[in-house]
Amino acid sequence: MIIDLLKKAKKVAVLTGAGISAESGVPTFRGEGGLWRNYNPQELATPEAFARDPGLVWEWYNWRREIIHPLEPNKGHKFIADLEKNTSDFTLITQNIDGLHQKAGSKNCVELHGNIWRVRCVREEKVFELSDVPLKDIPPVCECGSILRPDIVWFGESLDPEVMSIAYNAVKNCDFMMVVGTSAVVQPAASFPLIARQNGAYVVEINAEKTPISGMVDESLIGKAGEIFGKLKP
Ligand code: NAD
Repeated sequence: MIIDLLKKAKKVAVLTGAGISAESGVPTFRGEGGLWRNYNPQELATPEAFARDPGLVWEWYNWRREIIHPLEPNKGHKFIADLEKNTSDFTLITQNIDGLHQKAGSKNCVELHGNIWRVRCVREEKVFELSDVPLKDIPPVCECGSILRPDIVWFGESLDPEVMSIAYNAVKNCDFMMVVGTSAVVQPAASFPLIARQNGAYVVEINAEKTPISGMVDESLIGKAGEIFGKLKP
């Protein structure tokens, strides 16, 4: 049924969250195994935490970079990359910052929350890749002498309006949407599936547990994303 609808769909949008990378070994924020030294990510991934103690925030990102660096995409990432190859109008919107979708071959990928392999100068706003693992000097410093921060949208910060507009258009215009591995509590992504549905799309959620949107989509498949995708073939 899902596969038939996917084959017929002209415009497909996929929204992913931390759950899709869980089976690759990336800890989620919510659920098991997401804590670091008893700090809550919502207290570390903030501009206030960085202003107060950039070294501590960078230590946390260094830890996350070390975890993510050797990891490989799983069946879920690969299914989505294959789906893109077979769909003429396809947009992947991810809340993840781990780069695993791109590693799986996804091309048209809108990163709502940035990317852990990019850094940004706090003075000049210059963005570049810094993929050394682990970073030896913490916090890292720009050639201009200013401190560098992860190029990530932290709690309390606004999303890039250009990125938002691309994501919103894809969501509004798609005729099939898949939502995978997101707790659907972080806005604005949490409302994307509802916007898609209001505009006529068929919406399927795949998540390890029920979420606030489970009762508002066309189908909610509860289970591990990799296992569910393993049973579907694009
Ligand atoms: P979240 O941590 O809030 O929720 C993850 C959801 O995935 C939960 O509902 C959980 O039940 C589900 N889940 C766990 N394992 C699963 C599996 N194997 N298959 C399917 N579902 C599974 O994640 P979120 O909704 O993306 O939320 C928010 C923030 O977390 C984002 O801002 C994102 O940047 C950040 N984050 C990203 C990563 C990453 O890049 N991999 C990791 C942790 C957090």
